[in-house]
Amino acid sequence: MNRAGAARPRPKRSLGQNFLVDANLQRKIVAAALDDPSGLNGPGELGGPGGPVLEIGPGTGALTDHLARRDARLYALELDDDLATALSARYADNPRVTVVHGDVLRLDLPSITGDWSATRVVGNIPYNITTPIVFRLLTPPCPRQIVLAMQAEVADRMLAGPGSKTYGALSVGVVLAARAKRLFDVPRTAFRPVPRVDSTVVRLTPLPASVCASESAAASRRAVRVLVRAAFSWRRKQIGTILARHPDLGLTPAEATRALESRSLSPRSRPEQLSPDDFAALARTLPLG
Ligand code: SAM
Repeated sequence: MNRAGAARPRPKRSLGQNFLVDANLQRKIVAAALDDPSGLNGPGELGGPGGPVLEIGPGTGALTDHLARRDARLYALELDDDLATALSARYADNPRVTVVHGDVLRLDLPSITGDWSATRVVGNIPYNITTPIVFRLLTPPCPRQIVLAMQAEVADRMLAGPGSKTYGALSVGVVLAARAKRLFDVPRTAFRPVPRVDSTVVRLTPLPASVCASESAAASRRAVRVLVRAAFSWRRKQIGTILARHPDLGLTPAEATRALESRSLSPRSRPEQLSPDDFAALARTLPLG
């Protein structure tokens, strides 16, 4: 039986249901999401009491119970019908908690909390949709801060720098949109059922809206995405060949050469040798849609 008094449903693998049962780690994730990491604002919460919090995938309430005790307006967004019903019953008497039944990849997230630019997002998110969730949250308008427990291997790819084997489209996309920090690891044994992988908690602080929310920033973000996807889909080829021949780019050899020369990049470089800034500069130079 769970605390709502109903028999606990069997975890659904299709929804990535691995529940965090280690209370210390539950508290640590909540502290990472709500407490001021710089210590400059004292022991209270970042943004002051009452600032909204959006939890993605509250499940059986492992993080939600800790979040609900804080002096913040909490929106708990859960896709699973049974869990959303149980959560609604459980927090019915807490006026600070609203359970939202829906899909994080489909709902209009900014309208849920009302004050999106002040919202802190937290979640132990399903492994199979980590990347789309992250890209969604980092597409402007962005929330104030995002703390997510995710598959360790995805965190490694996200935080990898040029030259590393795991550096790729995800690393470039994240660096151009946010400051990213690895906070701590969560072993697989802290979950039930025990998954096949370990997790890592990552904090993403989106770049200020002035940097990433303009029309031109949106156009260049689309161009960077096209370029980076193409480049890393041919990651063993040289960038000169990729730019001139990749069918998703549709560039002429002359356009490719001009763009590389403008950035003083060797056409023989491999994609993993280019920095995020190189990709952003190339995307600005090239006629990509
Ligand atoms: N937060 C809980 C914990 O730490 O124990 C549950 C974490 S579990 C890894 C992921 C949760 O996300 C599950 O409750 C699952 O039902 C929910 N979920 C899966 N896909 C979702 C989606 N598209 N939108 C919202 N919630 C989703």
